[in-house]
Amino acid sequence: MKRSQILIKTQKEIPADADSINASLLTRGGFIQKEMAGVYALLPLGLRVYRKIENIIREEMNTIGGQELLMNVLQPKVLWEESGRWGKVADVMYRVGTDVGLAPTHEEQITDIVRRRISSYKDLPAAYYQIQVKFRNEPRAKSGLLRGREFLMKDMYSFHENEDDFKAYYDKVAETYKKIFSRIGLETKYVKASGGMFGDTSNEFQVICPTGEDVILICEKCDFAENTEISKLKSGDKCPKCGSSIKSEKAIEIGNIFPLGDKYSKSMNAKILDADGKEVAMIMGCYGIGLTRVMAAVVEVSHDNNGIVWPESVAPFKVNLISLNKNSEADKVYEELIRRNIEVLYDDRDEITAGEKFADADLIGCPIRIIISEKSLASGGAEISKRGSQDSEIIRISKLINKLAN
Ligand SMILES: [Zn+2]
Repeated sequence: MKRSQILIKTQKEIPADADSINASLLTRGGFIQKEMAGVYALLPLGLRVYRKIENIIREEMNTIGGQELLMNVLQPKVLWEESGRWGKVADVMYRVGTDVGLAPTHEEQITDIVRRRISSYKDLPAAYYQIQVKFRNEPRAKSGLLRGREFLMKDMYSFHENEDDFKAYYDKVAETYKKIFSRIGLETKYVKASGGMFGDTSNEFQVICPTGEDVILICEKCDFAENTEISKLKSGDKCPKCGSSIKSEKAIEIGNIFPLGDKYSKSMNAKILDADGKEVAMIMGCYGIGLTRVMAAVVEVSHDNNGIVWPESVAPFKVNLISLNKNSEADKVYEELIRRNIEVLYDDRDEITAGEKFADADLIGCPIRIIISEKSLASGGAEISKRGSQDSEIIRISKLINKLAN
């Protein structure tokens, strides 16, 4: 895509109302626009990153048998009265009139969908997910995309004939989550946590980060990790698993998984006949990942003083091609990259100084920068460097494309 055509307006100054690194860099780089507290629009550049995250999640959910569907933002009061939550979620659910609310989560609707269609253990296990906008009346909307009032989320719900089957699937989802986050370039801790507003105990996926809102305890040696909200331990105590020392770290929660037991299936009468012909309530689990929050977490952990450093898997473009003093070689390279399906942002603007182009490239943070100028051509070709690295090299134009295709 040509920079002269895409809707990007970068800004040098930190926005006055940016309350976090992610809000500042994503706004300055032209990825998002803040509309009001906790409400952000994804601009073309931001949507490209979002789609990459979304595709990784979708691929991995499909590999563990998740079936994608799309439920509704508008939720009827009657359904939430069945589960007994209409009154309980009053603080977090935006209301539209007296009988409708905007969905903060979808346990009720998925239970309603499944109870009308599944009646035998033979149809289980089953898991359904959606990637959709959610609303939470969040009085502390802050930290950019980390804590929004309107945000994008993947939520999956699984249904089982018994606890054992549920447990096996829960562990499988946990493994898959680790894989998803690692593909996105995030190292996570699998943390024991409280059920928050919706259950008793759960597990969270936390990214260690000094700007995180959560505090977790982790072992220096093994995989022990607990949220301080539920832990009886403190920093410096011995790890209950291996005896080494544990320490506390700030972290950002980017995913969570909850056992739901028969809380919804019982109250909403979602029953099946088991192998003995006996009527039992289905056992359920739910599994969330905040997509816009993941995007923010990547920025919080992967940036420098000049801007964002995107991991290649979620970068808006793989290559940022910069032409200095408009030259036909750069145009040819751009055409060839397009032809070979290599994602490229081409800074073809001629009214902009070299310094401004470099600053923009650093701010936007594509993994590979290529400069084609009279100077680089005189030295034998194009100058190539990696975002976040000081080193660059001159590579012959004829070799450039093949190098990038790998
Ligand atoms: Zn340990």
